[in-house]
Amino acid sequence: MEMTLIKEKLRSDPMLRKLQAAEEVIWINPDKIPFADAQDSSELTMADIDDAEARLLRFAPFIMKCFPETEARGGMIESPLTDISDMRDLLNEKYDSHLQGRLLLKLDSHLPIAGSVKARGGIYEVLKYTEDLAIAHGILKKSDNYAKLAEPEYRNFFAQYTIQVGSTGNLGMSIGIMSAAVGYHAIVHMSADAKQWKKDLLRSYGVTVIEYRADYSEAVKNGRKQSDENLVSYFVDDEKSRDLFLGYAVAAKRLMCQLEEKQIRVDVEHPLFVYIPCGVGGAPGGITFGLKQVFGDAVHCFFVEPVQAPCMLLGMSTGLHNAISVQDIGLTGLTHADGLAVGRPSGFVGSMMEPLLSGEFTVRDGKLYDYLRDMLEAEGIFLEPSACAAFQGAAMLERSPEIQEYIKKNALEEKMKRAAHIVWATGGSLVPEEIREEYRNTIIRE
Ligand SMILES: *Cc1c(COP(=O)(O)O)cnc(C)c1O
Repeated sequence: MEMTLIKEKLRSDPMLRKLQAAEEVIWINPDKIPFADAQDSSELTMADIDDAEARLLRFAPFIMKCFPETEARGGMIESPLTDISDMRDLLNEKYDSHLQGRLLLKLDSHLPIAGSVKARGGIYEVLKYTEDLAIAHGILKKSDNYAKLAEPEYRNFFAQYTIQVGSTGNLGMSIGIMSAAVGYHAIVHMSADAKQWKKDLLRSYGVTVIEYRADYSEAVKNGRKQSDENLVSYFVDDEKSRDLFLGYAVAAKRLMCQLEEKQIRVDVEHPLFVYIPCGVGGAPGGITFGLKQVFGDAVHCFFVEPVQAPCMLLGMSTGLHNAISVQDIGLTGLTHADGLAVGRPSGFVGSMMEPLLSGEFTVRDGKLYDYLRDMLEAEGIFLEPSACAAFQGAAMLERSPEIQEYIKKNALEEKMKRAAHIVWATGGSLVPEEIREEYRNTIIRE
């Protein structure tokens, strides 16, 4: 990135200077517009989400056969939505959060198969590729029972193909485990941030893990190159993939039903606030896109990123998207939140979010462990540090001057006491006990 342009941006924007100093910031997106207007110019629509949902339904018998833990839900990969009012009380007491409405947790940390939000996008993309491939070779029709794909003759067919992906850990787990289940040869290119136990787990499934000393972007670049050189290799491109994005977006339709079951209304009088941790942007972007399709202007979505790796915030606030990296403004990109250790955002997701996203929070690494312990204390639920980033939104929302202005501008003052808040817990259930113990005892003084 050109230095003079960056300097000019830094000079004119105090928020960016705080971002550069690795201070916690709250950013309101000035480009957000009414949903109806945003929809007019969107390249994707509700029909695309419906299509993805229908595909997952076709694969449900196959998923159920390969992963018996999904039987109770008929092969649907979904997570619970649960009240965490004790955590709300704790936030209000300990952090002076003034949170008024109901606080809920979306437990994607406990999604079957991959134990993280990546079980949505990653698995969906592998299945989409599988369906396309099988139909193109005349061995599958959409009206078939897809359970047959688990039979040896089909596995042998898919074994001729390779699927590759670059990952900080969780995406690799989701793609690797699902690829192995279908029968593919899977290669996961892991960045330096990836935890050892995630690599070990993948290798136990027969997945090839290639380790890099470099960061996520470098792992992706190498993975893409190796895949391009192989005629029978498919690369899952987290920075550009529409399929991943739509796999995540399906979450919104399912959430709508869960809110109805809990008799939680979401409409203009009953706003919904959602806080999602952000790395390259695919997961929070896809979920936000879906939520806006379902709830329109009644939902207010915020991303949360680590102070050393706020790539989406940097890209969106400068309008430079993937043309700028956090290293360009002197940040390290290094964070204990391994799932969020990304220095350059997805340009595709950044553009999609421009008219939809309400804003962003950044959070210090030390606080991730505080929130992790708070959740264990208040609710007895373990989440990984990346997932805990989302609590920064709930903790800071109603005490922040920036958000007070947002609330006024959107005429929400009277409605905040009727609001529901969802913290999107993106990972944690597969973390081994000895690592949990390590996390529980980690204290960072910043
Ligand atoms: C990947 C990940 C995210 C963020 O998803 P992106 O698509 O990279 O933005 C958040 N939390 C966890 C635990 C993750 O693994």
